[in-house]
Amino acid sequence: MAKTTQNQAKHDAGLDDGPLESVRFTGLKAGPKLIVLGAVHGNETCGPNAIRRVIEQCRSGELVIRRGEVTFVPVTNPKAYRQKTREGDRNLNRDLHEKPQPADYEDRIGNRICALLRQHDALLDVHSFRGEGEPFVFFGPENNSGELEPFRLAKAEGAFAACLGVPVMIHGWLDNYARLIAARERLDLPRLSLTEGYGTTEYMRFAGGYGVTLECGSHDDPASVEVGHVAILNVLAHLGLVDAPAPKSKLRTVIHITEVIICESTGDRVEGDWKTGDAIAAGQIIARRANGEPVKAPSPGFIIFPNANAKPGEGICYFGVKSDRTL
Ligand SMILES: [Zn+2]
Repeated sequence: MAKTTQNQAKHDAGLDDGPLESVRFTGLKAGPKLIVLGAVHGNETCGPNAIRRVIEQCRSGELVIRRGEVTFVPVTNPKAYRQKTREGDRNLNRDLHEKPQPADYEDRIGNRICALLRQHDALLDVHSFRGEGEPFVFFGPENNSGELEPFRLAKAEGAFAACLGVPVMIHGWLDNYARLIAARERLDLPRLSLTEGYGTTEYMRFAGGYGVTLECGSHDDPASVEVGHVAILNVLAHLGLVDAPAPKSKLRTVIHITEVIICESTGDRVEGDWKTGDAIAAGQIIARRANGEPVKAPSPGFIIFPNANAKPGEGICYFGVKSDRTL
């Protein structure tokens, strides 16, 4: 190895032990504790850009945090961010929980993120996605005392999600993950654990708070930064951390994910140019199996996360219906 490459490798390895940066503003009056995460996925730069803008506004006095506190973590996965990749060693937004014996980079980061999340009441996790589509937000289950994801704060979380300024809200993630696991078992594929479905928002609910995942738009669309910026300003107003009028909701559709269309063998693929949130009529073709058999919408509904690169055992696409949740 040439000396410069060697030095670079040493330098990079050193950075992997580098710290996680967070910036906190504490109001002088009591109030809720908010945490805002960016770049949980390293190639999703709208979060860091929007968050840094808000930090500057707080520092300059343009925004005044009066109550509670807000902690900003502009880059939650520094290794992936530095590499400009989604993941460092693995997806930080899966199987997130404290691990006394961390096995990889994301385990080490996860331990610190979990500790930070525990110090807060509400989480806004800012992401972007591949391809085209409207911004949307993932939120959690209804109040329930079930085994999968017991929860008591559905009302507060729903209002928080609805204030962000995006037109589409989606729920049903963890139930759907259970369906994906069952489908993989039917296909004799390596078993996924249910904790694999746990990301930042699931951990936050487990820890007694609530949280949502905001998908601001396409990775490289500058408009995604604006969506993220508005969303952060809106939650600061909504929670009363700043003095500002209550944000107006732009919500149009609430979707309940009810099905996963799994890639059963190589060649199974999405049919058509679907984007997340697209409406689909009953019987309309969503995907086609390698053997030519079509997969049709079981009822009127919506397309979620079409994935042209799905491998066997992964979702080609999710399907959802109009939610009956009242917000
Ligand atoms: Zn993401």
